[in-house]
Amino acid sequence: MRFTKLRLTGFKSFVDPTDLTIADGLTGVVGPNGCGKSNLLEALRWVMGETRAKAMRGGGMEDVIFAGAASRSARNFAEVCLTIDNSDRLAPAGFNDSDQLEIVRRITRDVGSAYKVNSKDTRARDVQMLFADASTGAHSPALVRQGQISELINAKPKNRRKVLEDAAGIGGLYQRRHEAELKLKNTEANLLRVDDVIEALA
Ligand code: ATP
Repeated sequence: MRFTKLRLTGFKSFVDPTDLTIADGLTGVVGPNGCGKSNLLEALRWVMGETRAKAMRGGGMEDVIFAGAASRSARNFAEVCLTIDNSDRLAPAGFNDSDQLEIVRRITRDVGSAYKVNSKDTRARDVQMLFADASTGAHSPALVRQGQISELINAKPKNRRKVLEDAAGIGGLYQRRHEAELKLKNTEANLLRVDDVIEALA
């Protein structure tokens, strides 16, 4: 799986639809302070399922929507589309039936976020899992924020271990185990209810 294109519409300072080609090898983004370099990295993190507004340097998630400027009015939605080359067919099961994946996340004011993969509505959890299984995602150690290196040096061993686990691609397994444990607990509670009902009927 390889990222090939990023398209931003109404996302932070990128009010007009903006396409970025991610070529083979190293891609550098250069520009003056405040031109939107960090916004690009945030768009990448966001489309992969980031849920923490703080990680987007905002107070609420709707802060990613273009807020308006002297000559442009604010927008009502923001959208990021990430195109992935899946010709090696390394995407997780359920997403592996095409050579190209187009992941779209759109947030609309007062409505919230919606995701699509190849034009099909998809749950946020499934998009997050797609990237976690591919050892990437919103929390990927491959996306390095400003100040993150010193945070990592000062981090507790438990938090550093989390970075290694994410890099190894086992973050998705932890999430699945957590969901399975919740299901097990619900089932146990249901069984107790069934016992109560049987006792009441006996
Ligand atoms: P530096 O080199 O200083 O780190 P940068 O190139 O990384 O800067 P960013 O931090 O990505 O720049 O972009 C900041 C710009 O994005 C600011 O001009 C800010 O006003 C603009 N911006 C952020 N959120 C929004 C929004 N919701 N609507 C409009 N503009 C926004």
